[in-house]
Amino acid sequence: MPTYRAPVDEVMFLLRDVFHVERYNNLPGFAEASPDIVEAVLAEAAKFCEDVLTPLNRVGDKEGCRRNADGSVTTPPGFKDAYKKLVAGGWVGASAPAEFGGQGLPTVLTQAIREFLYSSNMAFAMYSSLALGAVAAIYNHGSAEQKARYLPKLISGEWAGTMNLTEPQCGTDLGQLRCRAAPQADDSYKITGTKIFISAGEHDLTDNIIHLVLARIDGAPPGTKGISLFIVPKFLLTADGAPGERNAVSCGSIEEKMGIHGNATCVMNYDGATGWLTGEKHRGLYAMFTMMNTARLSVGVQGLALSEVAYQNAVVYAKERLSGRAPGGAKFPQKAADPIIVHPDVRRMLMTMRAFNEAARALVLWTALKGDIARRSTDAKEREAADDHMGLMTPVIKGVLTDQGFANTVAAQQIFGGHGYIAEHGMEQFVRDARIAMIYEGTNGIQALDLVGRKLPKDGGRALQAFFAEVSGYIKEADAAMAPYVKPLGHALGELREATQWFAQNAPGNPDNAGAGATDYMQLFGLVALGYMWCRIVDAAKARTASAGMDEKLVAARFFMERMLPATATHLARIKAGAESTMALPADAF
Ligand SMILES: Cc1cc2nc3c(=O)[nH]c(=O)nc-3n(C[C@H](O)[C@H](O)[C@H](O)COP(=O)(O)OP(=O)(O)OC[C@H]3O[C@@H](n4cnc5c(N)ncnc54)[C@H](O)[C@@H]3O)c2cc1C
Repeated sequence: MPTYRAPVDEVMFLLRDVFHVERYNNLPGFAEASPDIVEAVLAEAAKFCEDVLTPLNRVGDKEGCRRNADGSVTTPPGFKDAYKKLVAGGWVGASAPAEFGGQGLPTVLTQAIREFLYSSNMAFAMYSSLALGAVAAIYNHGSAEQKARYLPKLISGEWAGTMNLTEPQCGTDLGQLRCRAAPQADDSYKITGTKIFISAGEHDLTDNIIHLVLARIDGAPPGTKGISLFIVPKFLLTADGAPGERNAVSCGSIEEKMGIHGNATCVMNYDGATGWLTGEKHRGLYAMFTMMNTARLSVGVQGLALSEVAYQNAVVYAKERLSGRAPGGAKFPQKAADPIIVHPDVRRMLMTMRAFNEAARALVLWTALKGDIARRSTDAKEREAADDHMGLMTPVIKGVLTDQGFANTVAAQQIFGGHGYIAEHGMEQFVRDARIAMIYEGTNGIQALDLVGRKLPKDGGRALQAFFAEVSGYIKEADAAMAPYVKPLGHALGELREATQWFAQNAPGNPDNAGAGATDYMQLFGLVALGYMWCRIVDAAKARTASAGMDEKLVAARFFMERMLPATATHLARIKAGAESTMALPADAF
């Protein structure tokens, strides 16, 4: 049975020592979140995740969700009780605006808690994540009446939410979407169509489910320009806002799938269901993107979360499993063999996971803090800069953290040898669960194209230039003792600049050059961002050398610089090779 300890001390170190969160006390919600309170909240969340959710992770995987003859869906044993506790603890909308019943806590704090939730039970945690996506969409695009009717219950967790984009013929290319919305005399619409792969589409955890559905109003233009966003509750609300009559939306079936069995992935049938437009007509994709950006960051956190829990279990096993002797001679001669943690190849895998997890967590929290600034600062320039950062870093966090997070679950499984492949230790579940994060919320290939095609050129490259300026400014000012860290970072930054320049010169004439190099560019970008995070961590660790564990951070940082960051050269070489050999064969040669 896998175990999990939420990394509360790590989060506290990042918030306090690396990002000095107390400096943001002028932002609404931050002054209330004093270090003592933050530590207490994290400790409480850790306890819930460790004691309640971790034991349910295997149950959810084994039992899965069941669709009953009447179309209702039963979640795995224990999920309902755990969900009640999640709601009672106020965990669902902890960062949501106080005017709608949230606690207004900084997202830099609640994003850390999301990591704990996903590590302990990703399938369970997804139910509440989707509600938060719905909150973001309605809060930013809904009418005052819609906000009043739906937000308080979504924020408290009493009701859940979903996002309905995908249809059988289209996932990435939503321009092909067919779901229809017929206008009615009373300002409502009748929604008709089939959505597939809908996470948390139907379940027994809440009294109502608020579906956010993309559909095309009759007569709307074809393509993405004719798509609108609708609120379609499972139960229509009575005049006083309570769930009333059942709407014409139902779960046709639950998809059989590779992992996250505790989360119901549903085919949803809309048979003239009543819905209400939210946001502007034909601007549904724009409105949905508000939800998608929140969701993409959250999915990036899933990659980190599964990497962390898989790492923790691999460490335990590597210290217990006896096999062979250390290359330089027995380290534990009194034992029948040395534990496998003595072997450099096993260390390589453990160090790779550790060096990724700590920097990835820093990148997530740094970006969450920017999100808080973008939403809460009174200074327009500061808000703009923070928003630029969010836009630029969202595809990087989604793509890089889920790719490497999945690779790390495989490495952790590898440390268990054959025992990782069989189910007993739970390692293969982490691999299966982690895999989806590379696919949904826009595949990682699409994240890379978003970065290269949209985020780099946006506003004349303002966000990218700000990132370059921040990292190069940091390198310039670093003292000589930081040379082992900032020198490799400077080199990698130079390669990232070179790759950017190469695209500027070679993509306009041949867009395939951008498409063929986009994934390498995203990975190269991610390595530079993680390298920068390591430098910031080292700075903070050096200032606290007397504290336990700080020297270990310097070693992990060195490992990252020496053994992981050099991959930037390979990515650059691939980018500069261009698209020619990738695209040379005609389709029928495959
Ligand atoms: C378990 C699970 C849960 C999900 N939850 C939800 C949900 O809650 N709500 C929802 O709406 N959807 C959900 N999805 C759907 C998911 O978001 C889509 O599967 C995903 O976006 C990819 O779409 P697709 O499957 O149609 O693949 P396609 O779009 O057909 O893509 C196939 C491949 O082609 C590539 N590709 C496609 N177009 C391009 C292009 N223009 N340029 C370059 N490469 C391209 C893709 O990267 C991919 O590798 C879920 C899916 C799963 C499996």
